[in-house]
Amino acid sequence: MIIAIASGKGGTGKTTVSVNLAKVFGEGIQLLDCDVEEPNVNLFLSANLLHEETTNIRIPKVNPVRCDACGDCSDFCEFNAIVMAGKKVLIFPELCHGCGGCALVCTKRAIREVDSRIGTVETLLAGGITLVQGRLDVGVSSTPPLVDSVKQKIQANHHAILDSPPGTSCPAVATLRDTDYVLLVTEPTPFGLHDLRLAVAMVRQIGIPFGVVINRYGIGDDRVHRYCQQEGIKMLLEIPDDRRIAEAYSCGEILVDALPEYRELFEQLRDSLLEMQK
Ligand code: SF4
Ligand code: SF4
Repeated sequence: MIIAIASGKGGTGKTTVSVNLAKVFGEGIQLLDCDVEEPNVNLFLSANLLHEETTNIRIPKVNPVRCDACGDCSDFCEFNAIVMAGKKVLIFPELCHGCGGCALVCTKRAIREVDSRIGTVETLLAGGITLVQGRLDVGVSSTPPLVDSVKQKIQANHHAILDSPPGTSCPAVATLRDTDYVLLVTEPTPFGLHDLRLAVAMVRQIGIPFGVVINRYGIGDDRVHRYCQQEGIKMLLEIPDDRRIAEAYSCGEILVDALPEYRELFEQLRDSLLEMQK
């Protein structure tokens, strides 16, 4: 089963849920940190590096002899990664998403594609947990191809948990695509509800079954609960607003280890997810 942990905004406790759920799955679980702009899962696991590889995308290179400055490539690129400056074609590799479209529309065959590094994918091990994390190079903006590289490491014979980038833009969509179930983490506040609505719209658009985890239950109000009830959305876990959880988090400790009374909550979440797969 491939489970993505997502949220409409950062700071809701998404990584806490990812790490603790991985812990109760135990031996053999794969935990993928798809938040490649800011991977932080390993702050909690302190896993040992086994393997590291580079990820490249294919970016355009223009042959000025063949190019007649028609501008078709520039018109096509929605990321402004290839633009006309008078009769000259300028390429901005850090904006390129490697889609290959500019080479396809160039009827003069003036564009060929060359490798350009965007980041690394690291495989690490902590106890029985295999952690795969992407790390985007500084100044690079093409996040989805690196997320895809991280997801290519999923082994079909083991369960996988994907810690998604926050928000509802391309990197989150790239993470959620082709997963079996999505857990949306939110807080019971008006802001939490606002971001949850956006996240629900995204997951419904992609067409993946999903449920909600409420973090810091006890603060705010009951609007998130009422919204989930009205929309028929499953509420799978409520993590109380407990000062000891914040203290454990700030020390980089894993909740189910630091406060064993919470282990049962995460085991119930694991069992509910596995039950849904049957
Ligand atoms: S589409 Fe090809 S020929 Fe036209 S400007 Fe771009 S590289 Fe030059
Ligand atoms: S490969 Fe795609 S993103 Fe990159 S310059 Fe060409 S059209 Fe733009």
